[in-house]
Amino acid sequence: MGVFMGKKTSSQEKRQRRQRGIQRLRKLAEQGIEDGIFWKPDAQYAEQVYNAINRTVFNGQLTRPKIVIRDYNKNFWGECEGMYVDNRPVCKVIRMHRWIPNSKIFIRVMAHEMVHQWEFEKGPYNRMTHGKRTFWSWKPECARWGINLT
Ligand SMILES: [Zn+2]
Repeated sequence: MGVFMGKKTSSQEKRQRRQRGIQRLRKLAEQGIEDGIFWKPDAQYAEQVYNAINRTVFNGQLTRPKIVIRDYNKNFWGECEGMYVDNRPVCKVIRMHRWIPNSKIFIRVMAHEMVHQWEFEKGPYNRMTHGKRTFWSWKPECARWGINLT
């Protein structure tokens, strides 16, 4: 056994976890920018981005759904699909477009879909919106972590 260092308070742990999250987010953003036009997100990268945003912006309160990267004909970069499982709202899948041009936009789109996940699972109306009260209430918190919620 090592020397007993005492138990860290949970708020200290949370702060450290969030601090690591912001470092991770910066690295993930830089990664794609360096790779330039040849950058393509894969599922592993998407999961890392999800985890980092969850740790920072959402304080770890979301559960990562299946994340799918694919080609879309549709005119959007991301999509969050929610459904009711045993009468509980659950986000089952987040779909991300393979041709998102760079990691900064990728992170922004992921944050957007994660706000929808939060709205659906934890928000007061259990509905995905682009409304002031739920969706845009996350804008300042995202900005705090360098993410421009759009
Ligand atoms: Zn949306």
